[in-house]
Amino acid sequence: MPDRNTNNKNPRIRFVVSKARDCVTAKDFAESAVHDDGRFLGWAIFRRFPELKKYYRAERHAFLFSEIKSFVRGQYAKHRRTMAKDMRKYGEIWRSKEAGFYELTGKLFPGRRWPKGEYIAYGTIWGMFPRFLENKTFQVPFHREKKYNIPVIVAHEMLHFMFYDYLYGRYPKYKDQEKYSFFVWHVSEVFNSVVQNTKEWKSFFGGTSSPYPEHRRIVAQVRREIGDGPLTDIDRLTDAIIRNVKATIKS
Ligand SMILES: [Zn+2]
Repeated sequence: MPDRNTNNKNPRIRFVVSKARDCVTAKDFAESAVHDDGRFLGWAIFRRFPELKKYYRAERHAFLFSEIKSFVRGQYAKHRRTMAKDMRKYGEIWRSKEAGFYELTGKLFPGRRWPKGEYIAYGTIWGMFPRFLENKTFQVPFHREKKYNIPVIVAHEMLHFMFYDYLYGRYPKYKDQEKYSFFVWHVSEVFNSVVQNTKEWKSFFGGTSSPYPEHRRIVAQVRREIGDGPLTDIDRLTDAIIRNVKATIKS
């Protein structure tokens, strides 16, 4: 199959329904509890579906997987039509924004190519929307068009793909997952918050993604350091973020 994303062209995102993807995501959230005491697991799954707590085994950081699979299968069967409709709708909404988004991103990363990948947005029933850097796919919430600004979410994940690629190119040492994955996560989230909160981005998207609580002060500090004009120097911005994350976050 020809890969549409191998050229210097801007990727065209496809919006896809996949229950298999959501089963694996539930498993990933359960495993993530090893690192954060279940914070993400709570946000992503139990806040929306408290009834799933009974299938979680805290001592193993794992679900009874067959139970989760049948729950997910049930949800997908029940909402099959609206899920397909949502993905079509999200595709249309995004198409109306993508040219502007690529223009904004092009200003931020002049001349930089999009990394190769699948560029698929999968719907999710869960309450957090992970991304998969390895193949450039991510998740967006079903049925939540009113609550969320879908292009803001899509732009957020796309920015991650570009930023990680840029950061690893500039600082290869950060590719060491064991040592730096959490640090790089902080840096990339602060980066997105700074970018998505500029006047240009906010007015184009009609909204912004709110920072994680622990990043609020860092975002404000970085903004003070680099001034509040348009972002024109990606290296300087990134280094200011790295410095502030190092000074603030204990790892
Ligand atoms: Zn993010």
